[in-house]
Amino acid sequence: MNDEEKYIARTERMLTRWSGQRLPVTRKQTTEGDVMRHTPPAVGELDVESGQYLEPARPLPILASCDVLVVGAGPAGLSAALAAKRAGADTIILERFGCFGGVITTVGMETLAWYRYEGTVEGEGIGIEMERIAAQMGGSIKWPYNDSQCLDADFFKVVADRLITEAGVRPILHCMAVDVIFEEGSNRLKGIITESKSGRQVVLAKRIIDCTGDADIAHLAGASYRKTPKDKMLGVTTVFNASGVDKQKFLQYTEDQPATYADWSRTWDQETTGKEDALRSPYLDKEFDTARELGVIPAHTTNLGGSWSALTEAGEATNLNLAHLSGFDCTDVMDLTKAEMQGRQEALYALMALKKVVPGFENAKLRNFGMTLGTRDSRKIIGRYNLSSEDVRNQAKFEDSVGIFPEFIDGYNVLILPTTGRYFEVPYGCMVPLEVDNLLVAGRCVAGDMVSHAAMRNMMACTVTGQGAGVAAAVSLQQGQSTAEVDLRAIQAELERQGVRLH
Ligand SMILES: Cc1cc2nc3c(=O)[nH]c(=O)nc-3n(C[C@H](O)[C@H](O)[C@H](O)COP(=O)(O)OP(=O)(O)OC[C@H]3O[C@@H](n4cnc5c(N)ncnc54)[C@H](O)[C@@H]3O)c2cc1C
Repeated sequence: MNDEEKYIARTERMLTRWSGQRLPVTRKQTTEGDVMRHTPPAVGELDVESGQYLEPARPLPILASCDVLVVGAGPAGLSAALAAKRAGADTIILERFGCFGGVITTVGMETLAWYRYEGTVEGEGIGIEMERIAAQMGGSIKWPYNDSQCLDADFFKVVADRLITEAGVRPILHCMAVDVIFEEGSNRLKGIITESKSGRQVVLAKRIIDCTGDADIAHLAGASYRKTPKDKMLGVTTVFNASGVDKQKFLQYTEDQPATYADWSRTWDQETTGKEDALRSPYLDKEFDTARELGVIPAHTTNLGGSWSALTEAGEATNLNLAHLSGFDCTDVMDLTKAEMQGRQEALYALMALKKVVPGFENAKLRNFGMTLGTRDSRKIIGRYNLSSEDVRNQAKFEDSVGIFPEFIDGYNVLILPTTGRYFEVPYGCMVPLEVDNLLVAGRCVAGDMVSHAAMRNMMACTVTGQGAGVAAAVSLQQGQSTAEVDLRAIQAELERQGVRLH
């Protein structure tokens, strides 16, 4: 057999093994390709004094057009895209990274529903569906202290690929939304401007759903928003995964030294309802005090402390959420730069401490950091309705409910777990920006105060607003109404058809 024949035989064997079917293989002719040259932009005006560059105008190619454009593919974006498509709209999902899943896949946060201790009442809908399908595909592990699932962050990329493909949503990856296009003389958006390896391009859409986490589109479109003052913003974290962990030895340690939610108060000056305090929590913090006392890590690492989650038979401890850095605004590129670099350093200090102090971690090594730093807090839009602390603590009910979320609050020193079956309704109004007509905002940047954000930022809550916004965008289009005036009964009817619990 010559080289050519060997290549074809090898490829055929590979295809047969992977796809279960034999496909014809043709050897590609090698070519150096044509010589190409891009037309560089004209020269603009540089004003060093004001620190600005006036970019010259130039034509941009249209990459795609659709009914509903979902920008950002985290828990909110995935849910919005699937819901809009299932409600009959031609839908594009556009994401700046190379995978869907947002914080799940890019940060490595696997605990989609860890709040689900006894008594939790769930909303049903796409969030629960994602958790169930990941489990069916073998892409999750039971969370240590209840029956919720830790998603395998990398595997979830494939789960999301499958959901998007099977639904017929049109995907665009590696593409960042950088600006918006308005319809002349109106407050309606016509589309967005994107940047990618293909350059600056345009995506046109009749409805846009901002699921960027940071409300990028709302911000670019001139909608009003709030940002928590930097010194009070929830911290950022570089999540990491370790290999070489002796699972049984570590689990024995956690039985011998059981941690509870009362232990969280050592790191955060925290308010609970009392019923949370005695529940077991996969939590580590005093281990870092010991490591500091032993001189294993420097004295300034007082920000270490947090949770572990999945342990595999292969000796991996994933989703190590142990280093919290504060004082960073993740809509500022220089803050992001600093936080990324400092976050990696802190995560390594955490690992050094675990290796020295925690049984089972002696031979552990860094498997990987999350693809990106994890942001908990940035812009929150001013909406037609702004959710409040009272709403999420007191089982609020809304006529325009798009779903329910259990009474789970985690942030700004409040921890309430939904162990008594309490839940609140999520109003459509918190996704409707005041100034832009055909734009909805879903996910962690919906309208509300700090404590309501501590509920709505949770991934399952983001899937509730995502699904609500997806359906609303599709319905408003079918009915020829704006997203502000759309018939709420029609939205709720479609959400119920999709299996969502509204009240
Ligand atoms: C370290 C950490 C730990 C957490 N732990 C938990 C937990 O245990 N349980 C829980 O429920 N929640 C947890 N959260 C909160 C939760 O993960 C997030 O609030 C949630 O993922 C937000 O979902 P989202 O869809 O709104 O945004 P994201 O998940 O942030 O997704 C936004 C997506 O939009 C993309 N994007 C952003 N800007 C653009 C743009 N301009 N153009 C194109 N794409 C863009 C991003 O790349 C990303 O994929 C945690 C968060 C962090 C950071």
